[in-house]
Amino acid sequence: MIDLLPGREKQVVHKGGEGAAATVMACGKNSVAGSVSQRACVFCGSRVVLYPIADALHIVHGPIGCAAYTWDIRGALSSGPQLHRNSFSTDLQEMDVIYGGEKKLEAALLELIAHHSPKAAFVYSTCIVGLIGDDVSAVCKRVSAKTGIPVLGVHSEGFKGTKKDGYKAACDALYKLIGTGDTANISPHSINILGEFNLAGETWILRDYYKRMGIEVVSCLTGDSRIEDIRRAHGAKLNLVQCSGSMTSLAKMMERDYGIPFKRVSYFGIEDMSAALYEAAKYFKDDPAIMDRAQNLVREEVAAIYPELQRLKQKLIGKKAAIYVGGSFKAFSLMRALRLIGMETAIVGSQTGDKEDYQQLQEMADPGTIIVDDANPLELAKFCLEKDVDLFIGGVKERPIAYKLGIGFCDHNHERKEPLAGYIGMLNFAKEVYASVASPVWQFAPRRAK
Ligand code: SF4
Repeated sequence: MIDLLPGREKQVVHKGGEGAAATVMACGKNSVAGSVSQRACVFCGSRVVLYPIADALHIVHGPIGCAAYTWDIRGALSSGPQLHRNSFSTDLQEMDVIYGGEKKLEAALLELIAHHSPKAAFVYSTCIVGLIGDDVSAVCKRVSAKTGIPVLGVHSEGFKGTKKDGYKAACDALYKLIGTGDTANISPHSINILGEFNLAGETWILRDYYKRMGIEVVSCLTGDSRIEDIRRAHGAKLNLVQCSGSMTSLAKMMERDYGIPFKRVSYFGIEDMSAALYEAAKYFKDDPAIMDRAQNLVREEVAAIYPELQRLKQKLIGKKAAIYVGGSFKAFSLMRALRLIGMETAIVGSQTGDKEDYQQLQEMADPGTIIVDDANPLELAKFCLEKDVDLFIGGVKERPIAYKLGIGFCDHNHERKEPLAGYIGMLNFAKEVYASVASPVWQFAPRRAK
């Protein structure tokens, strides 16, 4: 093992031999100062959750850097409006910091709402707004009264916690919309999909699956979503939560106030995708035809991709991967998906996993696997060298680590352009992994050339 910064030791575990008891990992705490964590700030956590709402105005109240840093951050696809792809900002300057930015925010909101006619507006508070104490809620209330649309403050001052606090601030803002729409004509077999962001069309794949099963999707939070759908989300009978780190708090609030139960699911990999469909079918057991349709769907979809998966597996058997993702629930699915194509997971970690997640990761992992919470680039690079992995699965901040070391890379986060969810997503994943791992380009990386 490499030397770790003091204070980081309890957030890294080297899984022991077969049958070794799981070690309790430290997690969910603020990053160690100076460690240059891979984590994003609270504001970024809120921004990524709300960003895909395509007919809303998103305005970042803060210096221009916060907006530039998150401009089109997810690239989430919309089947209609594209307003979300802009990154509006109040561009706070020194004089605003001294005298306050409320007037500037109000003027910007009124101008933008008049120009773009959004269905709602989200106002993100950044670090500096927390420091100077602008009353964002009061501005939102005034503008809402003047324009007649919901204007929602997102209390996401970057410094006030971890990215997870940003998820919570986004859920709180969303929750103000839920319960304000008309739920007439919603099917008794209906769901909301929570924690799916339509980065490359995944929401459309999942909507199609549920439609084929006879289940209505009332709203997807927040992939390709519309304000009107979110307002009537409380009319659904079941919530399926994928990105549990970001959306569990919203699901719990909906369970508490509207009696809607929730189930944790994942749409990555054959096993988890099928389990997610069966989970919904089991819940609507008053109509056994839903389960029949689910079984037929799974049979057809698996049959369509299985031969090609087997062909790719023959080329990937024994290759090793590192996984570093935002929420650890995604890591479970990735480990299973890698096993399906013959690969081992040598390193697995996340930015926001909790104790139960890390315990489950240890149970699933092979002996010798490194499990890490809230890592930094230096640790990840050294772990990759130590384990000599062939592939790194991560996001935009992990890509340069992999490329510099001459390691194949698969983007499982904001920047991907191929859907990786569903059955077709599993095939896309296997093809991308193979293309990257087997690429001849790595022989020219300085480390490999040596
Ligand atoms: S909110 Fe704060 S930490 Fe986040 S991008 Fe802006 S200045 Fe940086």
